[in-house]
Amino acid sequence: MTHIITALCTRQGDCVEVCPVDCIVPGAKDDPDWGKYFYIDPDTCIDCGACVPVCPPEAIFPEEDVPAEYEADIKMNYDYFGEGPGYWDFDLEEERAAR
Ligand code: SF4
Ligand code: SF4
Repeated sequence: MTHIITALCTRQGDCVEVCPVDCIVPGAKDDPDWGKYFYIDPDTCIDCGACVPVCPPEAIFPEEDVPAEYEADIKMNYDYFGEGPGYWDFDLEEERAAR
């Protein structure tokens, strides 16, 4: 199981600062395919829930609780690490700029 960031993400980056296992990564803001949101690595997330209350738009859910209208975002999070860019050496202050 993992937590999932949905399309409600506004790239504020607060989740990155509290994740104890550093498994939240921004899609580079200039990347047209992945740049709108941040993503959680499903293989590393320990489901601690620390990111949920710090997210201003309440964009993060346990995978089993993702609302039906954001179900496609589950695949997005998996794909970002499976097929997409995955981890990279980002500057949080630069990347948390408004999308
Ligand atoms: S705290 Fe919420 S809005 Fe901010 S980057 Fe994380 S998921 Fe997106
Ligand atoms: S649930 Fe915990 S481990 Fe998973 S992304 Fe959120 S803060 Fe990180």
